[in-house]
Amino acid sequence: SPDSVSSRLSANPAYYTDSIWSDTKSSAVKKKLQVWCQLSNGEWVLGKLLSSSGGESLISLLEDKVLHVSTEDLLPANPEILDGVDDLMQLSYLNEPSVLYNLQYRYSQDMIYTKAGPILVAINPFKDVHLYGNEYIEGYRCKSLDSPHVYAIADTAIREMMRDEVNQSIIISGESGAGKTETAKITMQYLAALGGGSGIEHEILQTNPILEAFGNAKTARNDNSSRFGKLIEIHFNVAGKISGAKIQTFLLEKSRVVQCADGERSYHIFYQLCSGAPIALKEKLNLKAAREYNYLQQSDCFSVSGTNDAERFHLLLEALDVVHISKEDQDNVFAMLASVLWLGNVNFVIIDNEDHVDVMQDEALSTVASLIGCGLEELKLALCIRRMKVGTDDIVQKLTLSQAIDSRDALAKSLYASLFDWLVERINKSLEVGKCRTGRSISILDIYGFEFFDKNSFEQFCINYANERLQQHFNRHLFKLEQEEYIQDGIDWTRVDFEDNQACLNLFEKKPLGLLSLLDEESTFPNGTDLTFADKLKEHLNSNSCFRAERGKAFGVNHYAGEVLYDASGFLEKNRDLLHMDSILLLASSTCQLPQIFASKMLSQPDKPGCHPHRSSGADSQRLSVAMKFKGQLFQLMKRLESTTPHFIRCIKPNNMQLPGAYEQTLVVQQLRCCGVLEVVRISRSGFPTRLSHQKFARRYGFLLRQSVASQTPLSVSIAILHQFNILPEMYQVGYTKLFFRTGQIGVLEDTRNRVL
Ligand code: ADP
Ligand code: MG
Repeated sequence: SPDSVSSRLSANPAYYTDSIWSDTKSSAVKKKLQVWCQLSNGEWVLGKLLSSSGGESLISLLEDKVLHVSTEDLLPANPEILDGVDDLMQLSYLNEPSVLYNLQYRYSQDMIYTKAGPILVAINPFKDVHLYGNEYIEGYRCKSLDSPHVYAIADTAIREMMRDEVNQSIIISGESGAGKTETAKITMQYLAALGGGSGIEHEILQTNPILEAFGNAKTARNDNSSRFGKLIEIHFNVAGKISGAKIQTFLLEKSRVVQCADGERSYHIFYQLCSGAPIALKEKLNLKAAREYNYLQQSDCFSVSGTNDAERFHLLLEALDVVHISKEDQDNVFAMLASVLWLGNVNFVIIDNEDHVDVMQDEALSTVASLIGCGLEELKLALCIRRMKVGTDDIVQKLTLSQAIDSRDALAKSLYASLFDWLVERINKSLEVGKCRTGRSISILDIYGFEFFDKNSFEQFCINYANERLQQHFNRHLFKLEQEEYIQDGIDWTRVDFEDNQACLNLFEKKPLGLLSLLDEESTFPNGTDLTFADKLKEHLNSNSCFRAERGKAFGVNHYAGEVLYDASGFLEKNRDLLHMDSILLLASSTCQLPQIFASKMLSQPDKPGCHPHRSSGADSQRLSVAMKFKGQLFQLMKRLESTTPHFIRCIKPNNMQLPGAYEQTLVVQQLRCCGVLEVVRISRSGFPTRLSHQKFARRYGFLLRQSVASQTPLSVSIAILHQFNILPEMYQVGYTKLFFRTGQIGVLEDTRNRVL
């Protein structure tokens, strides 16, 4: 619940250094300015200081109310003239209530975008705001518009890419429902408009409805929640036109296929197919209404308000055409979806007093067999027995009811996940980028933000681990690299401390005694259970300051955004993610193309050298564990991102009701803390964020000099420019190789340059 989150977070002092605030606080008291006072419910209200003595202050609020408060609890407010500034850096007082108020002031006028120094803050409007479309795109392209916007970020990325020939990345983060996926689409819209022409941009845009149909679902937090992470890399040619794209996905939530909570839905595509398929297709797949399927019916939620599934299905068909997925392949895809739905209706009967089962021979079973293209008997066997090799003997073991249900669900999940991967692969083929890797690409990352629920399981564990890595990337980029660069270039810059989350990353990644290694080790033990796993963590990690032992299967991790309590129940099974060899061989024996492809992928999945392969007993498939595969993907992702110039967008969810207009301070402030927005502004403002090499500076502006400089060094040319333009000494520093400027200093030079050119 949000309350427990915010109380935990405010108990964590890591995010703010109070020093600048306490300075300004005392001056506010002296000058009798407007102040912020915090009410007992945590909300901040604006007041005027009437008097102050002995640590007590008298405040007048609006409506003639007067309040006695401890002076300690007051913070200075900004003058009205600064109301709604479009960059938080411009605020004189950069305290929490001032930032909250500024964002709220803008939000109430549909100005959902605000800069926080180098990053863009986007607050979800939960309604159509008129900020998009061709007119706006044109405005940002020709720079007649300059208020903070996703378009402005995309524009900067394109320009820097073309100018420096360096790959760019746009990293979008935020909680579920904060607006990441919409923001990613808005970014793509801009890139497509500026880089379009060849037609490939239409294909790229059409991947969105496809991936959303197969990878998004209605959850308690978001009617269109992405249940996977996504990186799309858009490539450009020398002329700045889009030449292709590549999509990588992360950690699709498979469990949703067979199980979802009350009021939530499974993946959109199932409902779209059931309501939108034409009669002929319905007959061919023996398709029924969504309510007829156990997997869909269990959560008792079939529709999403404001969306028409049948209509969406027709848009999906068009999108599949655009990315060149043939009608035949489309039909194969739908057959796989139908087979998953029908699998959920397969039932078992108990045949002995040891709970062993047989499969009920009914419509569900025969439909699955015909959709998968396998024999009825083979299907039955795969679902209710397991063949194993013990030593040199082949053993056949009957499954109990719960084992049989697990093996059925595992097959359904694995069919769906394979289908998803296959689709992404096909889309990538259609968008194929030429062989050469250029320095001209923009990657957009839309990935689940930090998650903290009442019950946190394996999914949250992986997601929060990913967020630690991303946070480190963010920290490194904005703070560490910045400091290092100053120091390297001999610049006098007072060090600013920032949160370093390396300790938490070590807790996850250390070998052999880190969370991931211990999880994998326990997953390979045939007798390992969630409890033995939790016990092992406690045995080995008790002294780690980021780890907290809890009772039973629970353990706590001290994440950068606060402490999260995990419940290890289900960890081992989710990490092993086994599909029994019988099921894989069943798919391999299919007469249909897709199951064959899926099976051969599963059989050929290599054990990566250097990684710890997951081996399990006898006849199960041997594969990397889920956590290890995810870690591998994450390392690849970070490597890729580290070679780019990053641009960060932080999406903020203003309320939990998905309603326009409502702005809950405590919810917003908690998110601002999680993503370090306040820290960033403070640091950027105190530093010299603009920097150029002597050469580059001299080359870029040298021609503006009145005297000829042909024979001079880049450094002396640079200094001449600084003098000619009267740039104040406190606004820049000259380093060994670069010039460093405070924010806003290069503007005059750029303006003059643009006028002359
Ligand atoms: P996330 O990907 O962060 O979970 P989404 O991008 O799916 O969140 O956004 C959730 C919902 O919020 C969207 O379905 C849409 O209704 C609304 N929304 C988000 N961003 C915008 C926007 N810029 N304009 C209008 N509505 C938006
Ligand atoms: Mg999303």
